[in-house]
Amino acid sequence: MKILVPVKRVVDANIKVTVKSDNSGVDIANVKMSINPFDEIAVEAAVRLKESGVATEVIAVSCGVTQCQETLRTALAIGADRAILVESNDELQPLAVAKLLKALIDKEQPQLVILGKQAIDDDSNQTGQMLAALANLPQATYASKITVAGGRATVAREVDGGSETLEMSLPAVITTDLRLNEPRYVTLPNIMKAKKKPLETVRPDTLGVDVMPRLKTLKVTEPPKRRAGVKVSDVRTLVDKLRNEAKVL
Ligand code: AMP
Repeated sequence: MKILVPVKRVVDANIKVTVKSDNSGVDIANVKMSINPFDEIAVEAAVRLKESGVATEVIAVSCGVTQCQETLRTALAIGADRAILVESNDELQPLAVAKLLKALIDKEQPQLVILGKQAIDDDSNQTGQMLAALANLPQATYASKITVAGGRATVAREVDGGSETLEMSLPAVITTDLRLNEPRYVTLPNIMKAKKKPLETVRPDTLGVDVMPRLKTLKVTEPPKRRAGVKVSDVRTLVDKLRNEAKVL
């Protein structure tokens, strides 16, 4: 059983991004980029399924610029067997990525596609759902536990006030939540091994996909600055402020 894991190259979660002066987007020039954290969890989940004998091959795929190869090498170092870069310098919006992944599903015929629930750069939370719709596959989003047996996947997902368990036939699409697992620490020998694993490059047009953006970003702005706090001299003043100036809270 093959598992396809889409991994996105995003600004590292520890970086504080700044908005470009023309408000057209976030400045990512010379900023540290990493694998999207939810995708790292997805790779870990797929590799664990392989280690437990359920899956036979884990294929990582990234859509974007040449440097996405680094993201793919991270996935290979965690334990993916091979990687596919869908190389494009165009802005790839979730619908375009979903179409590219659908084309790869047709080509690779995986039994499971495990994506992150969202990419932390644009927080779209759309690609997995769109992919399931385009490929006409069952989906379980926000997985906090995945079990695969007898051609079916059982997925626990945290919902308001509890947990919901879904069962689906394979092939299927799953998106990961933070609680699914804690990705392993990538060791140096595995980073070295990853350099030798196969990485194939394809282009959107060879997959027959038009990646033209359908959405236009009108404006990106910084969040409003937090007002400075005030020091109060005694408890009486504090209580008075809390009573009469509730908005300072
Ligand atoms: P999003 O819908 O943009 O929040 O992304 C949800 C998930 O789709 C991510 O966690 C990835 O697994 C996958 N994904 C989105 N964009 C890409 C991309 N350019 N390359 C590979 N996977 C992607």
